[in-house]
Amino acid sequence: MSPPPIPIIRTRTELSAVLQAWRTEGARVGLVPTMGALHQGHLALVRAAKADNQRVLASIFVNPAQFAPHEDFDRYPRDLEGDTAKLANAGCDMVYAPGLADIYPDGFAVRIEIAGPALGLESDFRPHFFSGVATIVAKLLIQVTPQAAYFGEKDYQQLLVVKRLASDLDLGVEIVGYETVREPDGLALSSRNAYLKSDQRAVAAALNVALRNAATEWRNGAEPNKAENAAAQSLLSSGFTSVDYIALRHAHTLQALTSRAEPARVLGAAWLGETRLIDNLPA
Ligand code: AMP
Repeated sequence: MSPPPIPIIRTRTELSAVLQAWRTEGARVGLVPTMGALHQGHLALVRAAKADNQRVLASIFVNPAQFAPHEDFDRYPRDLEGDTAKLANAGCDMVYAPGLADIYPDGFAVRIEIAGPALGLESDFRPHFFSGVATIVAKLLIQVTPQAAYFGEKDYQQLLVVKRLASDLDLGVEIVGYETVREPDGLALSSRNAYLKSDQRAVAAALNVALRNAATEWRNGAEPNKAENAAAQSLLSSGFTSVDYIALRHAHTLQALTSRAEPARVLGAAWLGETRLIDNLPA
């Protein structure tokens, strides 16, 4: 039996009223921020949030501040009705889908800049990205004031940036990371996978394979740049169009590794035609 539909809230005024009612109940509140076009990765975050909290709010907002003008903001997939049905099934209590003017009213002039884990990797290719993410995440955390907010390890650098944001701005929220949900062939679920044509989809899982091989090489004693170059080369041979980076880094700081005793993570971003895929694994 399908669960009853859940309310979609569009404005901050409605949001405040619902949050007030939840607080009166004494409910612990979990927030799952998303850009919609939901898949099982997003829904796993909702289920994890529901296991820890009495009330779960998912936000859906395609945030223009984290897209550069040449990026895919306009063609980013949108399906509010379908998303809401999936969220209801996963145990979500409410959807917050604010309009642009609710988030960025006329005259909006603030942008949060983050150093530390935001430096390098994604920032080398998408310099605007983490300030856009930090600004919207800070706004959502301030508007909702959840006890915990849930983010995927799929966007590993983003997860570290959000943890830094919450702790450096004393936002008083627990940031919970959740492991990447994958297709059977290892491809990380992503809303952008919908862009892949069938021949591209057939090679997309090579990104996960290349990262796993780089992690194995590192554990077997290879220098990081040798393992990274071999992985990048294998992606090009598999049919990827270009590689932005394959990088073995310290898992907590994303700095270069200085010893084999350090916790390591391998992260990658590469293009299949017009579609940019990212992934990462413990190394
Ligand atoms: P997005 O809608 O792509 O901004 O993603 C919203 C949240 O879902 C982010 O915290 C992502 O890291 C997370 N997410 C996206 N894909 C996955 C996945 N395959 N597994 C787990 N979490 C994911």
